[in-house]
Amino acid sequence: MTTAAGSSTSDTDTAASGAAVVWHSFCRVCTNACPILVQIEDGKVAKVMADRDGPIHQGYTCYRGRALADVMSNPKRQLHSTKLQPNGSRVRIGAEQAMDEITAKLREIIARHGPESVGMYAGTGMIKSVATVCNEVYVELRKMARHLDGSQVTLRVNPEVGKALKENGGKWLLEMEEICKKTVIVKSDALQHQEQFEIL
Ligand code: SF4
Repeated sequence: MTTAAGSSTSDTDTAASGAAVVWHSFCRVCTNACPILVQIEDGKVAKVMADRDGPIHQGYTCYRGRALADVMSNPKRQLHSTKLQPNGSRVRIGAEQAMDEITAKLREIIARHGPESVGMYAGTGMIKSVATVCNEVYVELRKMARHLDGSQVTLRVNPEVGKALKENGGKWLLEMEEICKKTVIVKSDALQHQEQFEIL
């Protein structure tokens, strides 16, 4: 196995020839951008592991990042634009055709009902879910752990995030207490946006 810190012809050749190589990269699933090690075998992603040399994340990744090899090889993965047919089936179409048809449909809706009739939602990697914010709180606390004074830490978070932090028997909180060796108190604050949090 070869460990590659960056792009190089020899490593690319090794990957193509079937031997395993490991590349340094980062997870794009959410905005935390955790450093990862990507093991390539037979030219395909075989395994994704935490990069413990990452100075900020210190080896942290979540199950979504580590599952990337399974995601990439999943036979149900959507690789092309498809169009729903009246009988419920889907046919493959080109990306340009898809964009043109969606644009025409949106224009039609806006012309008929006005611009406020169209909303926008960005999926994974753009809008932080409650689980992602919990991860961010965890990562941030981990970074701050050595610099926190006193016997307790207060997390001021959106109520949804507070609820998630306490789920599963407070597993998140127990891990945080383990990291910072302090009691972790959750203070839910409805004025906090879901993506905002404070560690006090
Ligand atoms: S928190 Fe998880 S999904 Fe987000 S970048 Fe890190 S490994 Fe990827």
